[in-house]
Amino acid sequence: MPHHTPLIGTIVAGLVIAFLMGSLAHRLRVSPIAGYLLAGVLVGPFTPGFVADAALAQELAEIGVILLMFGVGLHFSLRDLLAVRKIAVPGAIVQITAATLMGMGLALALGWGLIAGIVFGLALSVASTVVLLRALQVRNLVETERGRIAVGWLIVEDLVMVLALVLLPPIAAVAGSTVEDGPSLGAAMAGPIAMTFLKVAGFIALMLVVGRRVIPYVLHWVVHTGSRELFRLAVLAIALGVAFGAAYVFDVSFALGAFFAGMILGETQLSRRAAEETLPLRDAFAVLFFVSVGMLFDPEVVTEQPLPLLATVAIIILGKSIAAFLIVRAFGHQIRTALVVSASLAQIGEFSFILAGLGTGLGLLPAEGRDLILAGAILSIFANPFILSLAARAYDRIVAEGSAEAPPTEPAGAAPAADGTILVGYGRVGRIIADGLVARGRVPVLIETEGDLAARAEEAGLRVVAGNATDQRVLEEAGIRQAVRLLIAIPEGFEGGVIAQRARELNPDIRIIARAHSDEEVAHLERLGVQEVVMGERETAARMLTLAAAAPRADPERTAPGGEQT
Ligand code: AMP
Repeated sequence: MPHHTPLIGTIVAGLVIAFLMGSLAHRLRVSPIAGYLLAGVLVGPFTPGFVADAALAQELAEIGVILLMFGVGLHFSLRDLLAVRKIAVPGAIVQITAATLMGMGLALALGWGLIAGIVFGLALSVASTVVLLRALQVRNLVETERGRIAVGWLIVEDLVMVLALVLLPPIAAVAGSTVEDGPSLGAAMAGPIAMTFLKVAGFIALMLVVGRRVIPYVLHWVVHTGSRELFRLAVLAIALGVAFGAAYVFDVSFALGAFFAGMILGETQLSRRAAEETLPLRDAFAVLFFVSVGMLFDPEVVTEQPLPLLATVAIIILGKSIAAFLIVRAFGHQIRTALVVSASLAQIGEFSFILAGLGTGLGLLPAEGRDLILAGAILSIFANPFILSLAARAYDRIVAEGSAEAPPTEPAGAAPAADGTILVGYGRVGRIIADGLVARGRVPVLIETEGDLAARAEEAGLRVVAGNATDQRVLEEAGIRQAVRLLIAIPEGFEGGVIAQRARELNPDIRIIARAHSDEEVAHLERLGVQEVVMGERETAARMLTLAAAAPRADPERTAPGGEQT
């Protein structure tokens, strides 16, 4: 068709190629992010064939940022945010300063001048919301202490960048004017700084005073209409509307606006449903974010400026994370927290692009600086999943070494394996099962993804493999080949199916007991040969029925009006 449809073309090409490349990455067992970035390179202007609209792709990616931050806000309360401020505020500021200084050092070495150095350094200092949140979500870390610290840190970075973006134009004006008749830099910046603080404070006050009343009220009203469609619309309207309003009226970033909208909704009972409604859209747009980053990648930088590029990537990946690691440790947090926070921040993304774009537009940053920032972003985002697993492995090694030194106060290590039971999940259900088994002297081996819970289980005397049970290596490490029974105590029935299948491949005779929450999940698990499937809702119903049946029948006299005891 001869129609000119750049928006549709960008969305469709972005999603279709990202799907193909993401599937390929899945087959090759690498992070899907690598696939999405590659998809971006393929539809980008530097490779032959179809070229999607980069500006449109970046705008679409912003919707991903909004929905991601909205989703994170839903899990956050004001109290959580205030609880991490002691580490997040100084941490982010010290890290930004350290990274900026390193960036300035490189810029000066390349002969760019001081202001270019500051812009370049600032661009290297701020992590991407999307990359960080996806990393935390994939590892179920958003609601842990280290996840909260990382998110709090990100919000502080976000605020600093809002300020930086506001300050660049007056800096450019002063830099451009002659020294005698131009205003001093301090005087030129005082006004915008005060204005920015006023606007941010105004936005937050408005959200906390008015938004906190109006938004839950609207949502409650909508939910009582009983229309799913209206509810969905309401959630999207609130998330996108507040983010857009925050950006246009208060000059706050989209991300920050969305975060506050989510945080206010998170205080209501409806937050879980609100989160579910935005999930599919959020995931689709977050994928478009990675595609849009891939599109910016110009392979020429690699050949033209190999050494500066290497230095840039080293600052982002090594410099920033070492600084963050030391700061978190200096505040007395555990090694694991320091590792997760520093590894998840060892990348740059959307804010860096905006800063680089504005910097070159105002003539403050040379074009090579922007190219280095773009290439540094794609390489650090590409490397981020590997860095996170490296951090996790480093932590495992520290734990292993630590427990080797620990006095043998824990139950003998040989006992757990002897019983031949492997338990997956140490949440509400798994913990009760584990306690019951331990009380019977049958200590299971536990597989749990959440580091916090894995540590708690270890304290309770279990042998724990921290990791995802869908991973064959994790199952093997737990001793699946010799095990007699496998208890899958996770709420996701279909994910449980993957675990059951892998376990069967490694040990055809193993007896599997799994947990489910819907009839479809029960049928699926049974089809896979899981011997016993326990469906939470049926058990709850059976127990409630027993209780109701056992309760004495109502005494008509006691329940009659006025029939109370005298
Ligand atoms: P709950 O629904 O409260 O019983 O929690 C389920 C627990 O299972 C949580 O602690 C999850 O971290 C854990 N979990 C979920 N999926 C997996 C998996 N694939 N491998 C290991 N642990 C998991």
